[in-house]
Amino acid sequence: MNKNSSNIMALASNISNRREAVCIFGTGDFGRALGHKLIQSGYPVVFGSRSTQTSSLIPKDAEVLSHTEAAQKAAIIIIAIQRQHYSFLAPLAEILRGKVLVDISNNVKINQYPESNAEYLAQLVPGAKVVKAFNTVSAWALQSGTLDASRQVFVCGDDMEAKQMVMDIVRALGLTPVDQGSLLAAQEIENYPLQLFPMWKFPILLSLGLTAFFFFYCLIRDVIYPYVCENKDLSFFIAISIPNRICPILALILLALVYLPGVFAAIIQLYRGTKYSRFPDWLDKWMLCRKQLGLVALAFASLHVLYTLVIPTRSFVRWRISSQTVSQALNNKTEPLNTTNAWLSDSYLALGILGFFFFVLLGITSLPSVSNNVNWREFRFVQSKLGYLTLVLCTAHTLVYGGKWFLSPSSYRWYLPNAYMLSLVVPCIVLVAKFVLIFPCLDKPLTRIRQGWERNPRYSEQSNYVINKSAV
Ligand code: NAP
Repeated sequence: MNKNSSNIMALASNISNRREAVCIFGTGDFGRALGHKLIQSGYPVVFGSRSTQTSSLIPKDAEVLSHTEAAQKAAIIIIAIQRQHYSFLAPLAEILRGKVLVDISNNVKINQYPESNAEYLAQLVPGAKVVKAFNTVSAWALQSGTLDASRQVFVCGDDMEAKQMVMDIVRALGLTPVDQGSLLAAQEIENYPLQLFPMWKFPILLSLGLTAFFFFYCLIRDVIYPYVCENKDLSFFIAISIPNRICPILALILLALVYLPGVFAAIIQLYRGTKYSRFPDWLDKWMLCRKQLGLVALAFASLHVLYTLVIPTRSFVRWRISSQTVSQALNNKTEPLNTTNAWLSDSYLALGILGFFFFVLLGITSLPSVSNNVNWREFRFVQSKLGYLTLVLCTAHTLVYGGKWFLSPSSYRWYLPNAYMLSLVVPCIVLVAKFVLIFPCLDKPLTRIRQGWERNPRYSEQSNYVINKSAV
């Protein structure tokens, strides 16, 4: 071992020697897991428990004392106990005076109590400095060391010094403290672990609804209609043909829905002549989940690619090709190459490939690791300009695929048009509206509004009035 490394080790052991003892109330799952991690990081740990008997589960280097004795040994006390048992802390208020109490508790329901658990703790022990932390980290993650998904520790509290002390411990454990401000933020932090993909709810429910609608639509047109009217059993379409019809339809509609709220927002801003007035709630919520809508759309587009790749291996497709070949051989007649069809089919494939390529690029740039490395202008360029380009390519891909059948009566079954014709409605509305919005007579005022200009500046009129009045 070289001299440098022994110096570093000596320094490290000095630092660990200097670490102040941490007290943990409660020898349950979380208390023990945190205790282990603290001891590994060089902190002396003392547990405060109802029973002072040690067990094999408790870290062997830790002491187990009564709550009163343990509290006297440390300036920081982590309360690893459920909120409903906090009342036992009230009689200890005098001993806990001036101590830093770390509330790590969670609830079972969002906004379960009128006040946050941390604020309740502060009311019970008024002389203590309460800090909220660690509630988004699980005991299992602490124990197994798999902290990749939950490395951030949200910290809040009214006492800056106490908060700093807790953040130092968080850092020493190899985690990242995120200062969320005063104890008022505790309720929000307590709600974090109870949220189940809040931004994903609308995109997932919407795609489930659309999937069900288009599945039954295609089932009626492509399976039930041929069975009833042509006596053909095409029920096997349910496995690949129908999913491969639904996936691109959903990908296109959801991608268009990513850009539709932007169009609504532009129209509202132009109509109101200001950007300083709130959008309706539904539009705000829609705007907030655009990334998730786009990612679900990308998932459907990827499925479409996979389904398309297996088409040549399908027995139905092989049967159709071989029977066409045999019938041509029997009739001793080959069909000449139709150049228009060849052009259409190649353009349709090329547009699909390019559309999917840009779609993947959009998905990659929405990853936090990538978006954190580009500036706001670059991000907007990719998400807006490349996004619209993707929408144009994918819409064109669909148009070229079925454009020639649009007006053909034979493509309607029981008056129902082909499903991909329905899928073009939203994208076409978005693209036409966007096209109209880029006309200078609309684009110029919209750009000015977004830079802060107001058509009827209410506030400056009021301030002029106040200035004039005071002048009189
Ligand atoms: P737990 O396994 O049920 O342990 C709770 C501990 O509280 C018990 O072991 C007990 O310790 C003590 N206790 C129980 N009843 C008590 C009473 N009447 N008076 C005084 N002390 C009492 O719970 P946990 O999973 O460790 O969770 C502890 C806290 O951490 C909870 O508030 C939870 O919301 C929070 N949390 C847990 C996790 C997790 O992954 N488990 C993650 C984040 C936050 P003694 O027997 O030593 O007195």
